[in-house]
Amino acid sequence: MTTAILDFDPAATVLPQGHFIAGVYHRPGEAMIHVRRPSDGRVIGQVPDASPETVDFAVETALHAWRSSGWSRRAPRERAQVLLRWAQLIDAHRVELAQLEALNSTRPVSEAYASDVPLTAEVIRFFAEFADKAGGDVAATRQNSLGFVAAEPYGVIGAITPWNFPLSMCSWKCGPALAAGNAVVLKPSEMTPFSTMRLAELAIEAGLPAGLFNIVNGGGASAGAALTRHPDISKISFTGSTTTGASIMRDAAQYGTKPVTLELGGKSPQLVFSHVADVDETARCVARGFIANGGQACVAGTRLIVHKQLAERLIAGVLQHLEGIEPGPTWLASTRYAPIISAPQAQRIQAIVDRSVDQGAHVLCGGGLFDGTGEGYFYRPTLLTNVTSSTAAVREELFGPVLTVQTFEDEEEGIALAGHPTYGLAAGIHTSDIGQAMRAMRGIAAGTIWINRYARSGDMIIPTGGFKQSGIGKDLGRQAFESSQRYKSVLIDF
Ligand code: NDP
Repeated sequence: MTTAILDFDPAATVLPQGHFIAGVYHRPGEAMIHVRRPSDGRVIGQVPDASPETVDFAVETALHAWRSSGWSRRAPRERAQVLLRWAQLIDAHRVELAQLEALNSTRPVSEAYASDVPLTAEVIRFFAEFADKAGGDVAATRQNSLGFVAAEPYGVIGAITPWNFPLSMCSWKCGPALAAGNAVVLKPSEMTPFSTMRLAELAIEAGLPAGLFNIVNGGGASAGAALTRHPDISKISFTGSTTTGASIMRDAAQYGTKPVTLELGGKSPQLVFSHVADVDETARCVARGFIANGGQACVAGTRLIVHKQLAERLIAGVLQHLEGIEPGPTWLASTRYAPIISAPQAQRIQAIVDRSVDQGAHVLCGGGLFDGTGEGYFYRPTLLTNVTSSTAAVREELFGPVLTVQTFEDEEEGIALAGHPTYGLAAGIHTSDIGQAMRAMRGIAAGTIWINRYARSGDMIIPTGGFKQSGIGKDLGRQAFESSQRYKSVLIDF
C-alpha cells in the first residue's frame, strides 16, 4: 500500500449520522455530542445522545428481529456464512475503514490499515467458524434416561466499547455474540463512534437480518446506563475502566441479575531477569509494550521490573528505541505515534506524573506533551525512576506512554514486585531460564502472561481477560463464544 493511497483529507471524510437501528439511521432530534479528532482537537462531527426511549427502541427492535428472523434457529452454517461474508466486506473496505478509524480515534492510518482492520475481519472469521463446530455435552445417566446440556443464545446482548481500539473492540463483542445466535445492541464510546457504525452497515450488507446488530450513540452515564438497565438486555459485555465496570456490575445486579463480561483496567508489569537471550530485543519489547497506541491499551506494560545487574543496559536499550519518535496527524501514512484521545485524558496523565514527581520520582525522559503540536495531545514517551510500589504512577492506570522502573536483586523479590494490589490483566516475563519463567508465571496473578514477548499474536484462540479488578470473564477464544450462550440441562426418561 503506497502512502499516497492511505493519506487522506480529514475534512473530506463523510461520517455516518444518527443511531443505526434496524439497518437504517435514525435522527430523533436529541441533544448532540461533539466528536473531536485527537491529532488537533478539532470537532469532526456529532452524534446524538440517546434518550431512554431511543435505547428502548433499539433493544425492542433487536428483540423483534431476533425472534422474527429466526437467526438463532437457522442452520449454524448459514450463520457462519453470513459472518464470513461480513469479514470479506471488511477486507474489501480496508482503506475506507482504516481512514475512518484514523480520523475518529488515536490509531494512525498505517497501523489501522496494517493491523486493526485485518484483525477485525479475522476475529469475525474466527467466531463464524464456531457457529457450526461447537457442541454440547451428553451426560452419563442411568440406562433408561438420556441427559444432555443444550447451549442456546441469550437473546439480546448489550455491548459497551471504549475509545482505544473501536473496530477491534466491536469485533471482540459482536463476533461471538452473533455467531452464537444472539442479537446485539452496541454503544460505542461517544468519542469514537463512526467506524463502529460503518462496521454495522457492512454486517447488514453481508446478509445479517436488519435489527440483529444496532448501534445507539450517546454518553456512558445516559445511553450506556440505560442499555445496561434495559429489561430485555440479557447479558452485558463491557470494556473500559474499572470504575465504570463496577458501576455496570451494580446495575446488572440490580436490573435483572444479568451476567457480565468485564474487560477492565490494568497496570501490567514487564519483569526482566538478569539473563535474557537478546538484550536489544527485550528492550524493544519493553519499549513497544508501553508506547503502543500512546500507552492507551488495557494491557500496556507500564511497569518495568528489572534485575539490578541488567538495569543500566536495558534502560539504555529502551531509550534507544524511543529515539526519533515523532508526533504526526493520524491521517498521514508516515505517522507511527498515536496521540492521546482527549484533553482531559492528557491532563489526567500529567496529573499522575506530577504527583509521582512530588512523591520523589525522577523523570529520565519525557514528562510532558511534545512541543509544537498545536491543539493535539501528543505525550512524550516517559520513563520514571526512583519509584516505589506506592508511587502514583506505579499504582494507578494512566493510560499513557509512561513507564516506571523498579529494580530487584533476587527472583522472589522480582516476582513480588510484579504483582499489583489492584490489577491483574497481563504480565511480561523475560528470561532465558525456562524454570524461572515458569516460577514467575505461577507467581503472578494475571489473566495473560507473555514470556519473552509483550504483545498479543494473531491467535484468536488465546483469550484475554483479567484477574482481580481487571475484570471478569474473557474476550476472544473459545471462552468468549461459550459465554455468549446459556446452558440448559435436559433429562429424558424413556
Ligand atoms: P469508561 O470506562 O468511562 O468508558 C468506557 C465505555 O463505557 C464508554 O463507551 C463509556 O461511554 C461507557 N460508560 C461510561 N459510564 C458508563 C455507565 N455508567 N454505564 C454504562 N456505560 C458507561 O472509560 P473512559 O473513556 O472514561 O476512560 C477513563 C479511563 O478508563 C482511562 O483513563 C483508562 O484508564 C480506562 N480505560 C480502560 C480501557 C480498557 O481497555 N480496559 C479502555 C478505555 C478506558 P462514553 O465514553 O460515551 O461516556
